[in-house]
Amino acid sequence: MSFAHLNLPEYLLNVLTKQHYTDPYPIQEQAIPTILAKKDLMGIAQTGSGKTASYVLPILANMESIPVPKARHVSVLVLVPTRELALQVSDVFKQFAIAVPSRCKCIAVHGGVSINVQRLAMNNVRILVATPGRLLDLIQSNAVHLSAVKTLVLDEADKMLNRGFKEEMDEIFTFLPKKRQNLLFSATLSPKIEDVQNALLQDPLVINILPEESHIDLIQQTAYAVSPEQKGPLLRALISHRKMEQVLIFTSSIYQADLVADKLNKHNIQARAVHSKKSQHSRTDALHHFKLGKLRVLVATDLLARGIDIQFLPFVINYELPRSPKDFVHRIGRTGRAENPGEALTLVTPEDEHHFKVIQKKMKKSVPLKDKNQTLEIIAGNA
Ligand code: AMP
Repeated sequence: MSFAHLNLPEYLLNVLTKQHYTDPYPIQEQAIPTILAKKDLMGIAQTGSGKTASYVLPILANMESIPVPKARHVSVLVLVPTRELALQVSDVFKQFAIAVPSRCKCIAVHGGVSINVQRLAMNNVRILVATPGRLLDLIQSNAVHLSAVKTLVLDEADKMLNRGFKEEMDEIFTFLPKKRQNLLFSATLSPKIEDVQNALLQDPLVINILPEESHIDLIQQTAYAVSPEQKGPLLRALISHRKMEQVLIFTSSIYQADLVADKLNKHNIQARAVHSKKSQHSRTDALHHFKLGKLRVLVATDLLARGIDIQFLPFVINYELPRSPKDFVHRIGRTGRAENPGEALTLVTPEDEHHFKVIQKKMKKSVPLKDKNQTLEIIAGNA
């Protein structure tokens, strides 16, 4: 099946070719015709499945048939849980919107930056990607109206609910017109998600794309038995000896993320930390440079474990284990995506051993472990 079979307009097909999107991913094959037909949809899919383009493309194709609304009224609203995802989704809209003949201005609004700048930017916006709190602020200050929304998208709805956005979401829904298309995307299915599905969607097409666990086989995993004091030297040895030019390192605390990045920099390995205490500008800037391949190491807390897609990421290192096995899978899922094999390396201290066994059991995969002596050889540069 090719994109041309999906009834997308020529101008979008041209951008797809330019962006090297050759064939549609499974979620795109199923979602695009449904959304083009203006029907409701529920997609159980993770980042990496191609879910963003699965709604961006048909929404843009449908824009031509939607009349341009009054000033400060948007036609499409996409709600997302995090600033990072807001920027990522709006980037995909922008990437394709340039080819659309009708006016399709898209912006992302989220907390952490001045609301005044966003208020001014609302002029002529037709597609709004927003985190719930900031959107309510903008509605309350009359900067945006939702009464002309034709399509509502809830992306990573499970994460929005987990982050306690339910009340804000419910309030936002009261500003929407009753007649509209609803698209709900969630990485997981839970009773809470089913409640949202039942409340919002009418006779939806339900698409269930296999979870991230299913592509775990694409990822080559190795674990290293290491004492806490040797973690730093081992990390540096792995990065240098394996000639890692782009590596995402996970720590379990903000403090450690800063510490690891500082230490790497002191050893001339260029690194930056991203976590919730960093300013929005710093996080976006670090991620941008990392994605472009201009920053060698990004050290992150679990803030980045989900939702952020970095194409062709070859290495992920777990400097510390996450508490939840699910987070472990999300972390290593940053590599081995979209048919590109990747490697995940995990540092395991004696204290971590039991927990790492639990993670492997939950992941249904055992990870080969380099014992202490082998680790010492790696640090010494002999392996
Ligand atoms: P998403 O799940 O929306 O975050 O998309 C995952 C990644 O796959 C993104 O980097 C997209 O650019 C890429 N992608 C999505 N659909 C396709 C496709 N049909 N062909 C090639 N790459 C794609």
